[in-house]
Amino acid sequence: MEPTPPTADDLVHLRRCVQLAREALEAGDEPFGSLLVGPDGAVLREDRNRTGGGDQTRHPELDLARWAAAHVPAEVRPRCTVYTSGEHCPMCAAGHAWVGLGRIVYAGSTAQLGQWRANEPAGPVLPLPIGDVAPGVPLSGPAPELADELRELHTRAAARG
Ligand code: ZN
Repeated sequence: MEPTPPTADDLVHLRRCVQLAREALEAGDEPFGSLLVGPDGAVLREDRNRTGGGDQTRHPELDLARWAAAHVPAEVRPRCTVYTSGEHCPMCAAGHAWVGLGRIVYAGSTAQLGQWRANEPAGPVLPLPIGDVAPGVPLSGPAPELADELRELHTRAAARG
């Protein structure tokens, strides 16, 4: 299943994700932000990366999946959408799939992130695309409109080390 391009409505949510990513960077965390949106289009929860405190699993997508497991009925989760500034990593894609959430819309892809941060040492987890980890999840992305802003955020994060 190939990812589809984000729609104009998707872009509104993706812009908020990028704003949250900027807030995360300015707070000393990695520049990633995400939203959980319910079946009626209402934002249920937003979060941003919180790895600056030393817990490298504090990705917003995993925190949102765990929040959904605690607060959203199982039968409603497949109709929820997760918007995110950067495509889910394998850990977050697995969490998303295990709690039964629906579509994922991402602003920047894992492949783009690899290019933007190519000068950093490889992490401990393979940079697999979501489709290789959770093949049943409908996907949209990336959003070319947001690529320049994301590249700037990740270049700043990489420079900071
Ligand atoms: Zn992640």
